[in-house]
Amino acid sequence: MEYTKISKTEYFLRLLFPPRCICCGAVLPVGILKEVCSDCEKGFKTLDTYEFANMSGSTITRVYSAFDYEGSVRKAIHRLKFGDSPRNAAVLVDLSCQLLKDFLDKPFPGMPGKRYDVIIPAPLHPKRKRQRGYNQSELIAMRLARHMEIPVLKGVLVKKINTPPQSRLKREERLRNVAGVFHVKKPGQVKGRRILLVDDIMTTGSTLEQCARVLTGAGAGLVDAYVVAMRKKV
Ligand SMILES: [Zn+2]
Repeated sequence: MEYTKISKTEYFLRLLFPPRCICCGAVLPVGILKEVCSDCEKGFKTLDTYEFANMSGSTITRVYSAFDYEGSVRKAIHRLKFGDSPRNAAVLVDLSCQLLKDFLDKPFPGMPGKRYDVIIPAPLHPKRKRQRGYNQSELIAMRLARHMEIPVLKGVLVKKINTPPQSRLKREERLRNVAGVFHVKKPGQVKGRRILLVDDIMTTGSTLEQCARVLTGAGAGLVDAYVVAMRKKV
């Protein structure tokens, strides 16, 4: 991991608000711009490749991810979702983008300009969002949008049914659990557009697949996905 030099303002901010490791919460040294403690840094597992081709039967063409959903990354995502650590979203995206920059910035061969028109976060049901205080995928999407310099479309793809958390379900149950729960509110905004769908993790891919299906059904030109981490074996 690379760390940039710390500015004076940043230094004083870190004195006032001691930085904590995004994975374990340990207090970090003030003098270096670091977001992960030395122990947790060792537990960051990057994937062998960052661009994944279409899974069979999937609406999504490509999936981008930098980290294995294990060890330290898993802890950081868990804190983001359940530990009231919204800042983890930006830090994880920054770390991931150091690795993914080439994939996300390059246009397709023969196609000028950027690869995607808009970023769309995987939606949370409004009730769940109220409980958590934020939608982690939205925070991830907003940070990624800064890196990629393309806009985020919020409130276009919505979750209309509050389903049980996917993590508690088996593979077949996960697919059933998310069927028919997503809806495109403003189809005009996705029509013909190249969309990068964003979520925190991908395990079976059923949530992303259902989101992609409704987006394609509403006329999206192409749907790819970015996730902070993915679990290769389920
Ligand atoms: Zn740590």
